[in-house]
Amino acid sequence: MQPLLAPACGGGQGPGPYAGGMTNPPSADPARVGSGLRIGVLALQGDFREHLRAAEATGAQGTAVRRPGELDGLDGLIIPGGESTTIDKLARAFELADPLRKYIAEGMPVYGSCAGMILLASDIADPATDLSGAPQQTFGGLDITVRRNAFGRQRESFETDLDFKGLDFSATASGVEPVHAVFIRGPWVERVGADVEVLAQVEPADPEHASHAAPLPGAARIVAVRSGQLLATSFHPEVTGEKRVHELFIRMIRGEA
Ligand code: GLN
Repeated sequence: MQPLLAPACGGGQGPGPYAGGMTNPPSADPARVGSGLRIGVLALQGDFREHLRAAEATGAQGTAVRRPGELDGLDGLIIPGGESTTIDKLARAFELADPLRKYIAEGMPVYGSCAGMILLASDIADPATDLSGAPQQTFGGLDITVRRNAFGRQRESFETDLDFKGLDFSATASGVEPVHAVFIRGPWVERVGADVEVLAQVEPADPEHASHAAPLPGAARIVAVRSGQLLATSFHPEVTGEKRVHELFIRMIRGEA
């Protein structure tokens, strides 16, 4: 599909390729908020198809990324849920890891869900090691420490409702609806750097909202963060029909959030 508007930031004009959509008119129609944008989804492993659909549901053009050249000219990139160790290995094998690090350093907007959050993290508390003992690697960019599989194993997957900051654009007369979040062996964030904003936390076990068995002893757990043009969630909005997290990402790209 042809973009309806000129890409917000892909042209390399002005102050830089990812300057934040300064030249775009405000996106009046939320259903088409992504019109004119090209959003890449890293398609090496995991639920990239769901993210492509979620990106396209905003009106953006979604494009699967498997080769370094496919990173060029994107307005933003999504790193899907899946298995962070596999995505890491494949990204290195396909020579995507270094170009991706460079794009992130240059300010490319990136949203990572679940394994994608792990791959954006600067530090992993409990990295997996390969047969030679080398720890898994990340692309980095987000100054956070994540713990993998923190809420428990697959059978402890759970769903809950979260208060999520930054979704004011979706407010109705009764305020901002909570985000229904699905956790599938997701990480939590154990440390955030000074420039990282916490957007959502899972509160200590709340029998009304949490259907999970994983113990949350006493403390809230950080499950969504933002730093500059990087956004990450421990959960999977792409599988529930929740559109607002992708819309937030689009608005970040447009400089509207
Ligand atoms: N546990 C996976 C990992 O560490 C992430 C799970 C997911 O993306 N649903 O990569």
